[in-house]
Amino acid sequence: MMRKIVIANWKMNFDLHQTASFLRNFLKLSFNKKIIYNKEIIIAPSLPFLHISNQIIKGTSIKISAQNIFFMDKGPYTGEVSASMLKSMGIEYVIIGHSERRINFFENDEILLKKIKIAIKNKLKIIFCLGETYNERNENKHFISIKNQLSKTIFNFSLYDVQYFYIAYEPIWAIGTGISANSDHIQMMHQFIRSLFSNKYGESFSKKIPIIYGGSINLNNAKSIFSIPNVNGGLIGNSSLKIEQFLKIVQS
Ligand code: PEP
Repeated sequence: MMRKIVIANWKMNFDLHQTASFLRNFLKLSFNKKIIYNKEIIIAPSLPFLHISNQIIKGTSIKISAQNIFFMDKGPYTGEVSASMLKSMGIEYVIIGHSERRINFFENDEILLKKIKIAIKNKLKIIFCLGETYNERNENKHFISIKNQLSKTIFNFSLYDVQYFYIAYEPIWAIGTGISANSDHIQMMHQFIRSLFSNKYGESFSKKIPIIYGGSINLNNAKSIFSIPNVNGGLIGNSSLKIEQFLKIVQS
């Protein structure tokens, strides 16, 4: 059975001191309570604090992820950060396709495709987010929306290239709203995403690709969401910002 994966997306929260003290406390408390055993935990702090975060968690099983990269390797792109810069800091993971980047920074499939390419070239492991909008769900277009998002991005790559992907199914209407998708919806969409991977890359690979759920996971719903068939873990935003809450979610 696949290990459960818990990814914390801290978005644009925490300064240097808050980042460092959260990580130090998290290490201390989680080891004391032995709750990270047999789980894969990835934390995505803000970009300026990736290096110190990586130093703090060094020697533990916890991993640090970037929340974003630019699609070029270097050059006159003021303010941007490349995949190779992350690699030089020892960062191995990056989130690509988060709905907040798609919506607020106009990242379309074409841009995401370029980001995936450069991340693969630099051997970063990609946490790829996808999900339908509120209107798409209401108009019964969630299946076609997900299929299109995959066809225009990941499905352009070979099996060899996609082997280190994590897929985060995040219905946009559930992110940061406090209203998570219900179990039936999550189960149905995860099953659907896995079937698309099976059609494209074969059944055996489709069983191995981690598909995690994101969207208003909290203390009360984490346990039931993590026990839904085909759900390999969770991507947590708001509820990853309070250490006690996050510890309990990991424990679930
Ligand atoms: C997210 O930002 O990916 C997310 C799942 O956020 P939240 O848990 O706050 O809905």
